[in-house]
Amino acid sequence: MQRVPLNDLLRQNNSIRDDLVASASRVIDRGWFIHGEEGARFEAGFAAYCSVRHAIGVANGTDAIELALRAAGVKAGDAVATVANAGFYSSTAIQAIGAEPLYVDVDPTTQLMALASLQRALEGRPVAAVVVTHLYGQLAEIEAIVSYCGMRGIVVIEDCAQAHGARRNGKLAGSFGKAGCFSFYPTKNLGALGDAGAITTDDPAFATRLRELRQYGWDQKYRVSRTGGRNSRLDEMQAALLSAKLPHLDAWNEERRNIARRYVDEIRHPSIRRLQPMGADHVAHLFVVRCEDRDRFRRHLDLNGIATDIHYPIPDHRQPAYEGRIAAELIETETLAREIVTIPCFNGMEETEIRRVISAANGW
Ligand SMILES: *Cc1c(COP(=O)(O)O)cnc(C)c1O
Repeated sequence: MQRVPLNDLLRQNNSIRDDLVASASRVIDRGWFIHGEEGARFEAGFAAYCSVRHAIGVANGTDAIELALRAAGVKAGDAVATVANAGFYSSTAIQAIGAEPLYVDVDPTTQLMALASLQRALEGRPVAAVVVTHLYGQLAEIEAIVSYCGMRGIVVIEDCAQAHGARRNGKLAGSFGKAGCFSFYPTKNLGALGDAGAITTDDPAFATRLRELRQYGWDQKYRVSRTGGRNSRLDEMQAALLSAKLPHLDAWNEERRNIARRYVDEIRHPSIRRLQPMGADHVAHLFVVRCEDRDRFRRHLDLNGIATDIHYPIPDHRQPAYEGRIAAELIETETLAREIVTIPCFNGMEETEIRRVISAANGW
């Protein structure tokens, strides 16, 4: 029997293959590859999709976070609050600036930044910014965090790399904070055929700073008017491919959500936990369950031909390169890292595959 993969990018891409090929041909035939009309078109389309005034294309999602922090004025030595259970991406961006991550524990049910532990962390020391990660496709308590930080003059940056199109009370991921940072890594809900990213914002001055920072700090060609500049551009090929995919994003999210709902409704096992209801604000980027005997559960699924993974196995403050250098007491984060497991949930997943996952889980 064929294995059920954790993801299979060919299925989604093949469903619009002709459009992707036509987009790639258009770019090749035009002969313009960096910062041209495809980039401008995708930026306008993505800003409109997110209901924000500006979207600025960049090279990847980690750069998006770094550049947003730089545009917010974060500098070496500043503290930036974030979570430690989201794959070290925000930590990479914070470390690149020479700033210091101040880790906040997560809510054990949602696995997202908990407002109460953010408040506790902020009582201790001043922070320059907060990076809120909308993990697995679900929005954090973003309105409450934005209003709490707003009263203290702290900038909120949303990490939306797993939440394209997720909404709360009708408002979209990336439209709550000062900026929303998106990755279009191929496996994301909106994925390029290579690396790509974008930053959304409503603030025109912030958008201008980002456009300068992503290209050497130029305000015009060969004139560097801003320090801290990088080369982090979204190329025309990826922009054209993303424009071909964007009109399908809502339908693809709905398909993922329907698979997730099946798991919530039909996986019934006393040792497999945290199957919370799947609200309309969830875009089911990853379907993650908790299980105390996680490794044995994974072996069981593997023997039944079902791929799994762990997102993420090592909390940021426990990464070997930083172990001992970052003080943090993160009880929920550490417990979760031992118990979480990701099961297949992707576009193009077949009904027989969904059933196999459900029955293998229930048969454990
Ligand atoms: C994928 C991801 C990123 C980083 O995106 P890249 O494009 O790989 O740099 C950042 N944050 C989260 C939560 C992600 O899942």
